[in-house]
Amino acid sequence: MTFSTLAMSIAESPTLRLNEQARLLRERGEAVIHLGIGEPKNRAPIPAILSASAKLSTGDIKYVPTDGLPSLKKAIIRYTEENYDRLVAPENVIVSAGAKQSIFNIFYSILNPQDEVIILAPYWVSYPEIVKMCYGIPVIVRPEDGTFHPRFEDIERVVTSSTKAIILNSPNNPSGIIFSDDFVAQIVDFCERKGIYIISDDIYHKLVFDGKRPTPAWKFTNKDIENTKVIVVNGVAKTYGMTGFRIGWAIAPRKLVEIMTNVQSQVTTCVAPFLQVAAEGALLGLQSVVEQLRLTIQNNRDVIMNELSTFTGVKCVKPEGTFYCLPDFRAYNADSVALSNFLLQRAYVVTVPGKEFGMEGHLRLSYSGSVKDVTEGIARIKWALDPNSPNEIYIGDKKMVRDWL
Ligand code: PMP
Repeated sequence: MTFSTLAMSIAESPTLRLNEQARLLRERGEAVIHLGIGEPKNRAPIPAILSASAKLSTGDIKYVPTDGLPSLKKAIIRYTEENYDRLVAPENVIVSAGAKQSIFNIFYSILNPQDEVIILAPYWVSYPEIVKMCYGIPVIVRPEDGTFHPRFEDIERVVTSSTKAIILNSPNNPSGIIFSDDFVAQIVDFCERKGIYIISDDIYHKLVFDGKRPTPAWKFTNKDIENTKVIVVNGVAKTYGMTGFRIGWAIAPRKLVEIMTNVQSQVTTCVAPFLQVAAEGALLGLQSVVEQLRLTIQNNRDVIMNELSTFTGVKCVKPEGTFYCLPDFRAYNADSVALSNFLLQRAYVVTVPGKEFGMEGHLRLSYSGSVKDVTEGIARIKWALDPNSPNEIYIGDKKMVRDWL
């Protein structure tokens, strides 16, 4: 049996793998705490559910236009005007099955084999794999040790004649930091002069804390939508906690949207219409649900920072958005895969190894669950690692005694 070398080189999504491991442990009756998962616990907004059920109950669920239902595109245009202060045309918008597919479509439509894409570490695990799937080469730029802010000079240094794009994600998964305005402005100015695409993955732009907001990359160009190199990606997954609805979108020059539409038409035909109307319901419904979610997550961020601050040796940069943080666990184990496995096996806590995000020695912890999950999860990690913590703990109804420190 032979397979595609390229396909075989694509790594399994570590977060999806961990979900599966957690599910299996739970099935065995273990009291697993999931600090790995990147989705809020809220229920989908009521207007989203009502729109989807109304559409489903018509029984008329057929193919719809590849680039998205005109009514959803209209809602996205309104969202874009309100949140980005840019008026775009329906021809600039393409709806896909999640922001992940939007990013795939973009890379598939702009890259030629061996083109390079600059990815800033720590990065979302899927970026390098998607670039590779589109025959491109991921070029990773790392920040100085102890910070999550890459330096512009380090980006400039890796640019070659093959550099096609850079991807910016602010607030950032996995670190939770927001890039400074100066940094984004420098990148946009530099890339537009060089003809390099700037893909702005804004999926977390509403989940921000303490009054901070990332300035959209578009603000730093005075080029119109047809001429700018800035492409915006967004979706309903994180803002409304609608991860399972699989609705994301890209906003780009018409020509690129046309190519992406052709690509999508040959892969998935269109996005399920009842899911599209759900997204429309969320976008047009009461936006207080977003603020409620934001406040819950901000409170969880405060709780996790508080818990981590009592953890000897663990350093954590305070997240400004998202529902992740990326503490440095090198004082305990510099091998994040081994550490994450150890915590799952001994303490039944799911974490994601920093190595997967290009940041070895760290663990990504998600605080998108409940306060109880966060406090209990960190208490278990402390118990498993910190010799100063009591050596007995209850996990579910089992008393566990630490005998390895
Ligand atoms: N970009 C980033 C940075 C993400 O973290 C995620 C989801 N984890 C996505 C894109 C994909 O979002 P969606 O669920 O809409 O495909």
